[in-house]
Amino acid sequence: MSEKKLPFERPIIKKLNVNVPNKFGLKTEYDPITSIDGVMVKDLIKEFGSPLYVISERTIRDTYREAKRAFSTRYPKVQFAWSYKTNYMNAVCNVFHQEGSWAEVVSGFEYDKAIANGVQGQHIIFNGPDKTEKDLEKAIKNGSLIHIDHFDELYTIAELAEKMEQKPKVSIRVNMDTGIYPMWTRFGFNYENGEAWEALNRILLNKKLELVGLHAHIGTYIMVPWAYGLAAKKLADLAVGVQTKFNHTIKYIDLGGGFASKNTLKGAFSPGTDTCPTFDAYAEAISTAIISSAILPDHMPILILETGRALIDDAGSLLGSVIAIKRLADGRRSLVIDIGVNLLFTSFWYEHKVTPAQPFTHYTEDSVIYGPLCMNIDVIRENISFPLLNKGEHVVISRIGAYNMTQWMQFITLRPNIVMIDMDGKPHVIRKAEQNESLTSHEITPDYLKKINV
Ligand SMILES: *Cc1c(COP(=O)(O)O)cnc(C)c1O
Repeated sequence: MSEKKLPFERPIIKKLNVNVPNKFGLKTEYDPITSIDGVMVKDLIKEFGSPLYVISERTIRDTYREAKRAFSTRYPKVQFAWSYKTNYMNAVCNVFHQEGSWAEVVSGFEYDKAIANGVQGQHIIFNGPDKTEKDLEKAIKNGSLIHIDHFDELYTIAELAEKMEQKPKVSIRVNMDTGIYPMWTRFGFNYENGEAWEALNRILLNKKLELVGLHAHIGTYIMVPWAYGLAAKKLADLAVGVQTKFNHTIKYIDLGGGFASKNTLKGAFSPGTDTCPTFDAYAEAISTAIISSAILPDHMPILILETGRALIDDAGSLLGSVIAIKRLADGRRSLVIDIGVNLLFTSFWYEHKVTPAQPFTHYTEDSVIYGPLCMNIDVIRENISFPLLNKGEHVVISRIGAYNMTQWMQFITLRPNIVMIDMDGKPHVIRKAEQNESLTSHEITPDYLKKINV
């Protein structure tokens, strides 16, 4: 009898995730995400393709109202301004505008987008270090709020003011030590070294400029509300100084954006859902600092907030499909999905929550999740305890509404559809999937290169 030799299979030692309590209690069981706002994930993919960005209008409105409530119950005059660069899909911007948000833009491109969306000029806040003379002229004409970043910009505005009829409405951006390091001192004028005061003196001594506000944006994903308290106190002190020296009332104090979202930063010990401060906590720190400052009751400024990330992250999901399951040479299991870092820029900072979109076994294994790009850094999750999925099954990546639709990269593939689910659960395509032509229409091949012979 001839004995057939069986092929050798490399042994793999696998840790079983049994339900023993750790210091946080029992291992958390979780459920698949089979639908978003009542629409089945598999139906969305069938109709609009995979991968697919999905935005929940309901979540945007709910989150906005929660933030608005937190601030307006603590302070009499609150105004939000939607940060365009966080997500400038027009449909998204307009949901915020319908809720009463102004627009906060950081480039001429974004400025034009806000105007085209129908935002009134005087309700556009123009931030950023690169405003061209043409941008500034337009903003002055429209009565927009220009937040000056540096002295060269101040002098350009002063020059424009000489030859224009309108008086430019300006504010300064102030950077400062709030205990958040590294300090973002590259934007605006420094508080501690007196530069902010120098800028204010120059503006107030120029009769052609109207100083309307004071602005700070101390950073992004700031987990400590007291840092905003410090920033608000320093801006309030400047406002008091301006009132005393120039008898001029500051109309608004703008604390910028930067509130953390519930995403989990890479290497964080606890999940973001546990560590992210509430809107109430930020509102408490900021409003307390302003109302307890020396600003007189009659001069209380409007409080402007340019919150981006914290208002939109939860509303966005990225749906995708499993391309393959592979066993890596070191024994780890890996999944290749059709969502890459080109569509999920924030995967460089966050451990995104990836959830199967169909029922699954609760038997999990430590896995790596790769994207589809031919690029070694295309990793969506380096290490995730994940159930076994099959080719063609779907996953949902949650909390991706902030920055991914503006910082995305066009690399070896085209961008997919973006769908918004309205308040009645009806999906609308708000940005069409790109075609080859969307990109090649911008290319010009010189005539002598048009003929090839291969
Ligand atoms: C980016 C930015 C914002 C929004 O910041 P988030 O961290 O998304 O809240 C607000 N204001 C300015 C000036 C910005 O540059």
